[in-house]
Amino acid sequence: MKTIEMYVNGEWCKSSNEKWITVTDPSTGSELARIPRGQPKDVDSAVKAAKDAFESNAWRNIKPFERGRLLHEIAAKVNENRDELAELESTDVGKPLSQGYADIDAAIRYFEFYAGAADKVMGDTIPIEDGLLDYVVREPVGVTAHIVPWNYPIQILSRSVAAAIAMGNTVVVKSAEDTPLTANKIAEYFDQITIPKGVFNHVTGYGQEAGASLAAHPLIDHVTFTGSVETGTAVANRATSNVTPVTLELGGKSPNIVFADCDSEKALNGVMKAIIQNSGQTCSAGSRLLVEESFKDEFLDKLVTRFKQLSIGPALEDKDIGPILNEKQYNRVMHYLNIAEEEGTIVAGGKSAAPENGKNGYYMEPTIIDHVAPDSKLAQEEIFGPVLTVFSFNRVEDALELANSTEYGLVTGIWTQDISKAHLLASRIKSGQVFVNNYGAGGGIQMPFGGYKKSGFGREKGWIALYNYTQVKNVAIKYD
Ligand code: NAD
Repeated sequence: MKTIEMYVNGEWCKSSNEKWITVTDPSTGSELARIPRGQPKDVDSAVKAAKDAFESNAWRNIKPFERGRLLHEIAAKVNENRDELAELESTDVGKPLSQGYADIDAAIRYFEFYAGAADKVMGDTIPIEDGLLDYVVREPVGVTAHIVPWNYPIQILSRSVAAAIAMGNTVVVKSAEDTPLTANKIAEYFDQITIPKGVFNHVTGYGQEAGASLAAHPLIDHVTFTGSVETGTAVANRATSNVTPVTLELGGKSPNIVFADCDSEKALNGVMKAIIQNSGQTCSAGSRLLVEESFKDEFLDKLVTRFKQLSIGPALEDKDIGPILNEKQYNRVMHYLNIAEEEGTIVAGGKSAAPENGKNGYYMEPTIIDHVAPDSKLAQEEIFGPVLTVFSFNRVEDALELANSTEYGLVTGIWTQDISKAHLLASRIKSGQVFVNNYGAGGGIQMPFGGYKKSGFGREKGWIALYNYTQVKNVAIKYD
């Protein structure tokens, strides 16, 4: 079994208590690696190293375009190791290999995109009066913390770390205890390039220990968190005690709204992919289908047929659907399927699966549940599995009301050929992203991403995310 170490201040290290966490392969249940069970003391060392690096002339003297070049170097290393990384990510998370490749390609794009931005975020001058020069500069905030979930480890790490470093911050990453392998590789790449010690640090460990102490550390200047509402709230509370800003990306219950006038083939494909990707363990999963009543039977029949044809198997076999991450997540999804037995009609799937080479993995059939009450748990809570709930509507107003009827508001898909209907809905939908006749376009590196309501606050991805990692300073100079 491979032993992984943390990366703190340019050194590889164990945890201070020398305890370990075993990482398992969701596809087979076999042991993949052991990682240090990082303690508050270890987090403290990482944060202090990042702080020292941030205050050092070595880092300050690196020009913005040079920071961009460093990020380009990381992008190039990710690219050079694309095959190895895709296999590692797929194995670690249990996602089909082609989805692992898509994640690596997205990570490359994040490093490239923010590398290009490093010397292009500019300030302002403000006209006040003669004899007064007023200007606004954007400075780095300092040490930024990045608490990464297990479902898209390399993508989620890359998108915020690249933006933070581009703006001149130094970073501490806490990878998810279940899926630390690609974060460790990124640490290796930072170790291979010429960059001051302590600019990039990686700590491993449990959320309650390493994660909680990172969020609460007084020397942290910004926290970026992706995960559940419950944990995000706890992280925000801890950060708030130090008046540390947070960016929270907390999941969703995203609808795909399908009208009878849609391009049926495209809608079927989009709706299906939106819920089966990464076995539905995706914050932006399209987990609710809202379909026009007159079109429902026809559309649902076709969708059920497609679901029944989907293949299930270990990540590296690159079937349509891989395993659920672990027993805890599997039991969580099963709990909802048990509710569905009572409170809905399961029209596809609904059971666990046992693919030939996945003996000790946690597999599940892709599932569609019809006749779900809009205020039920199934309709309201994030299931985080390949489970689609179905609702129907007659009028556009009803579709809108249903779409906005959860506490979440991350993504919405609209499928129609009627441009007026699409625009009207897009303007009234309460979610951070709206897709018309597509869903999750091209990985969305350049698009602001984040939630309304309990899906979080702040935005990641795109140009706007750079501002998470800058502090605004106004300077007024009086001259005669
Ligand atoms: P989680 O939110 O508890 O964990 C996400 C990350 O936060 C991990 O790195 C974890 O170690 C860390 N963490 C956990 N507790 C912490 C704490 N007290 N302080 C600081 N960091 C902490 O998610 P989970 O338990 O792995 O999954 C539970 C549910 O969360 C899922 O079923 C799903 O609904 C949701 N989830 C959402 C996303 C998303 O992308 N929005 C990602 C993962 C999980």
